[in-house]
Amino acid sequence: MYRSRRSYYRERRREKIKEGLKTVLWVVTVICIIVVCVTMALQTKASQVVAAESHVVQQVSPIDVNKAVDVVQAMNTGQELVEVAIVNRAKAEAERVIVIDPGHGGMDGGCVFDGVLEKDINRQIANKVAKNLTDMGYKVKLARAGDNYIEKADRVEQANLENALLYVSIHQNSCEVSSVSGIETWYGENDLTDESRRLAQFVQQETISATGAVCRELVSDDEMCVINKSNMPSCLIETGFLSNKAEREKLCTEEYRDRLAEGIAKGIDMYLSSESE
Ligand code: ZN
Repeated sequence: MYRSRRSYYRERRREKIKEGLKTVLWVVTVICIIVVCVTMALQTKASQVVAAESHVVQQVSPIDVNKAVDVVQAMNTGQELVEVAIVNRAKAEAERVIVIDPGHGGMDGGCVFDGVLEKDINRQIANKVAKNLTDMGYKVKLARAGDNYIEKADRVEQANLENALLYVSIHQNSCEVSSVSGIETWYGENDLTDESRRLAQFVQQETISATGAVCRELVSDDEMCVINKSNMPSCLIETGFLSNKAEREKLCTEEYRDRLAEGIAKGIDMYLSSESE
């Protein structure tokens, strides 16, 4: 069939345009496929990261290890997670401290007889108790480390914040009748009464046995701040009467304070040991 030169070129041009359009269409299709694939891959990755993060939170959250154990068991997410939670619980227990509170301090000397200040005797005994307990493997914190004044409520609040295991306050007694002597231990009347009474009993009994001092009574009290505002078993021991000359002189000796501190530490240890049986 005859075709003019002009019509030949017109046809070639049309074919070229068609081929060009086809190529563009291919390129656009390929780009679309790549974009879809990349988007899907990114979404999958993001959901994996979110899942992994929530998994980690379940493993290490220290807020409530007991609850974590329950949640982990309920979710049945495997033996490994249960083991992690048990280790966390043991760690939390191990990090709990025994707070020893040397009564008074700073501007508050406590009772004073013949130049002997209660706050000093309290601190000297408390330091020895802390050393004995540390040697036994306990972690101990003093409610006041130096001769400084800290409000009673603040001492207890600090122990509560630290989730302390026990709180034992050390004081000296006084009486108008100068012949009165001996050791007495106080515990609070609150939700922890039974545990605090048990702690007070062990501390009283072991201190009497270490010193041979007169065994006065175990006294419960519902107003004493240091033993009623605490969230842990607590007691307050009056290790002697500064108003009694003979007992005051004993309290001023290193040897007698050593015996008192041994008794207090042993009582605390016996209470904690009996608790875990
Ligand atoms: Zn006192």
